[in-house]
Amino acid sequence: MEPIETDLNTILAKSTHDEKINDRFSEFLSRLDSEALDLEIFRLEKIVTPQINCTDCGNCCKSLMVNINEEEADKASVFLNQSREEFDDLYIEKSEAGKMLINTIPCHFLKDNACSIYEVRFEGCREFPALHLPYFQKRLFTVFMHYSRCPIIFNVMEELKEVVGFDSTQ
Ligand code: SF4
Ligand code: SF4
Repeated sequence: MEPIETDLNTILAKSTHDEKINDRFSEFLSRLDSEALDLEIFRLEKIVTPQINCTDCGNCCKSLMVNINEEEADKASVFLNQSREEFDDLYIEKSEAGKMLINTIPCHFLKDNACSIYEVRFEGCREFPALHLPYFQKRLFTVFMHYSRCPIIFNVMEELKEVVGFDSTQ
């Protein structure tokens, strides 16, 4: 296995440089057996994730829009000792369709590169980067959207190229 890359500038530069290669890689992955691919991603995720310290990175919390639901907002407001009204006024933006988003990027709750409401963080935060979930093939678009942002995704995908014998040079 190649050494783990965690430098965000290096990852971003490689992502820009390899954009066409990754388009081809995404197409290549879409033709593989879905269940076998999931198993390989699970295996690589278990190897890569323990080697990356998310509190040294925090890049998802600095750059992603965070969706939340009513139950999560209730829990977070209790955790912060605020009324729901205060919580909503301070942190929430609501769409006309009633969807709720955290109203700033980076997220309000990122403090010293760590989540200050970790115990009650939202489902989307818990799941990201979602490489432990099945049906990876259906999420190829979002995986490659986050490839330049998340060192876990970046390293898993680079290792996957080796494992599945993808030829980057053609
Ligand atoms: S709630 Fe916590 S984990 Fe979620 S984006 Fe904000 S800082 Fe990150
Ligand atoms: S999940 Fe990815 S982007 Fe988020 S902090 Fe961890 S390594 Fe960084």
